[in-house]
Amino acid sequence: MCDACDTVKLDRRGLMKLAGFGLAATALASSAQASDPAPKKADGHGADAHAADAHAAEAPAPKAKAAAHAEASSPMSPDKALAKLKEGNKRFIADANACAADLVSRREELAGGQHPWAIVLTCSDSRVTPELVFGGTTLGELFVIRNAGNVLDTGALGTIEYGAEHLHAPLIVVMGHKKCGAVSAACDVVKAGTKLPGSIGKMVEPILPVALATLYKSEDFVGQTILENARSGAARIMEESPMVAHLVHEGKVKIVPAVYDISTGEVEFYKPVMS
Ligand SMILES: [Zn+2]
Repeated sequence: MCDACDTVKLDRRGLMKLAGFGLAATALASSAQASDPAPKKADGHGADAHAADAHAAEAPAPKAKAAAHAEASSPMSPDKALAKLKEGNKRFIADANACAADLVSRREELAGGQHPWAIVLTCSDSRVTPELVFGGTTLGELFVIRNAGNVLDTGALGTIEYGAEHLHAPLIVVMGHKKCGAVSAACDVVKAGTKLPGSIGKMVEPILPVALATLYKSEDFVGQTILENARSGAARIMEESPMVAHLVHEGKVKIVPAVYDISTGEVEFYKPVMS
């Protein structure tokens, strides 16, 4: 376990405070203290060190280990995180079967805390699995939120805030994908007035304004709506989360829309949301 990679861990009291339950948090504090260690100061993420360890032999050479620790002392930049995702996606396209993950050692290594270096909001579609699409990223690397249509609802936004503010992930990707059923359903509602059953209609509501704005502007109505839905989700993170917007203004976080092609395996990244 790398000491340099320890970061602030939210114990039960921290989580309650985050949720605004200060009094309940105080009441729980004494019982929490017995099992939860005191928070340590976060001074680095160490994802590179972990990634390097994950693919190296069990006992890395002292020189390599020292280099990994040196890198762990400074947090990963948003641009470096984006470059890692792009490299990983190239690996996936070139040879998807070669993307293995060293799960056993990673599991043991991460038992003390997580340090993900990218947050990914994407669709629940079973063909869109970020850990695979980005080159076999293993445990503890990506902080993933999934729902049909990669909708930025309250749960998604709160999860993104947690990943960016408390886990210090430097990159947020909102990734739609081609042939998305949820976006297609929203397009059907806008174009044909289709009524969707159960809670599905309510779920796709946030996509409707995007579909409406895209209608008649492209021959590929669904494809364009998929892209605009990812762009809109990325832009709304800035608009609706002062916490994340602050991190973006400081240059600590970037928000990037993307679209995954389920046929070719390629992820196309678009212009980051401007601060
Ligand atoms: Zn989808």
